[in-house]
Formats: sequence, C-alpha cells, structure tokens
Amino acid sequence: MKKEYKTCDKCCYDILDSEGEVMEHECLPTELEVKSVRYYETRRGLGYECKTNFKGISIWNDGYGGQTYLNFDLRDKSFNPKDYDEMTEGSLEELINNYEYKKQ
Ligand SMILES: [Zn+2]
Repeated sequence: MKKEYKTCDKCCYDILDSEGEVMEHECLPTELEVKSVRYYETRRGLGYECKTNFKGISIWNDGYGGQTYLNFDLRDKSFNPKDYDEMTEGSLEELINNYEYKKQ
C-alpha cells in the first residue's frame, strides 16, 4: 500500500501516522526569514526595519545604539509570538546577515 502524506496547513509536520490517521501535534514554529531591509540614518548611527515572511513580524533597530528587537503586530493571526519572543539579538542579526548575503 502506498503511504499517503498529508502535511499540516500551518507547519510542515507530516500529520498522518502509519495507519493513515491524522495525528494530533503541536505546530512547529515556522522559521523566521528576512524579506527586505530598510536602513535609515540617525544622528547616532544606522537604524533599520526588516520585513519578514510574516506580515505581523518585523525586526527593528532604532539606530541610537539600542538593541535589535522583534516587533509583533497581533492583528496578524498567522503566528504565535511566543514562538519567537525568545530569539536573541544575535540570532536576529544573523537572519539579516543571511538576507544580505543571499541578495548579493
Ligand atoms: Zn502544524
């Protein structure tokens, strides 16, 4: 018998077990990806706003020496902020670097 695959609409979890029954699962968080970056100059340095693969999640730096942080727009229901709110500044900057690298 051919095994059927069916994946969850929200994550890419394979939701059929070996009997072909749909399994309960906790959705895997989708990895955050930077889609565009807008830089702007401030009197103290360079700030930026990054759009991501989620409409409601953006990455910000105010350009005044502050932290890089995530901004959540909770009108977008397609993600759970809890999945991302523990991302470190370092991992956010890595996402931006990956984007800049791919763009070249
Ligand atoms: Zn899922």
